[in-house]
Amino acid sequence: MLTVDELVARLVRDPRRTALFTDFDGTVAPIVTDPAAARPEPGTVEALDTLASTYRRVGVLSGRPLDYLAPLLPGTVDIGALYGLEQRVGGLRAEHPEAGRWRAVVTAVAAEAEGALAPYDGVRIEAKGLSLTLHVRRAPQHLAAVMAYAADAARRHGLDAREAKASVELHPPVAIDKGTLLTRWASGAEVVAFFGDDLGDLAAFAALRELTDRLGTETYRVVVLGPETPVAVRASADVVLDDPAALAALLQRLVTAAS
Ligand SMILES: [Mg+2]
Repeated sequence: MLTVDELVARLVRDPRRTALFTDFDGTVAPIVTDPAAARPEPGTVEALDTLASTYRRVGVLSGRPLDYLAPLLPGTVDIGALYGLEQRVGGLRAEHPEAGRWRAVVTAVAAEAEGALAPYDGVRIEAKGLSLTLHVRRAPQHLAAVMAYAADAARRHGLDAREAKASVELHPPVAIDKGTLLTRWASGAEVVAFFGDDLGDLAAFAALRELTDRLGTETYRVVVLGPETPVAVRASADVVLDDPAALAALLQRLVTAAS
């Protein structure tokens, strides 16, 4: 394990050859009960904006839809939304070519889920266009029922079910995740860091390991802790930060070092 000071020293050495990628919820933005109320930790947006002009690339990779993330993040920061199904690169929006035809399927499943999960009080269905999240944060007693429904719906409609913190997501069966996107976006960088907190971030951590093995890239897996940090995520950490405020402070230190 590295200390935060050691990590900062390595990330400020050569910004032009360094790429920084982060998840959004639980990292940039504190986890809140109402997912629609999540906002970046104060100072984080300004820091990411400044770093985007000094670093090789700064990107946010999230399971959220682009319509949610785009207004919250400066245009200088690239966004991989819905695990890469939707992207904003250099300020321009794009959609994964294989994803669009699943929009109608996802919409139909969202409508079906509203009915099927109606008996389970507190379960929230978040339709995100190209994917769908079933939230049980307010109704943890229904986790098993929701997981069973998600697995069944995924099988019937040809979608992939992916578990996350207090939720399960239904995705088009398109081979893209935070790992494949990170590998593409980190191309040419000699130093790459990713900040994550959840199971969906493991693909990004694995991609970093692969970059190191294949190309000798210097990579750092940074885990931002929270009350629900999965064991497998924590076990992947090269560096641990206490919370999103600690990430904001770290980014601020990178800004100070670069100016
Ligand atoms: Mg997260």
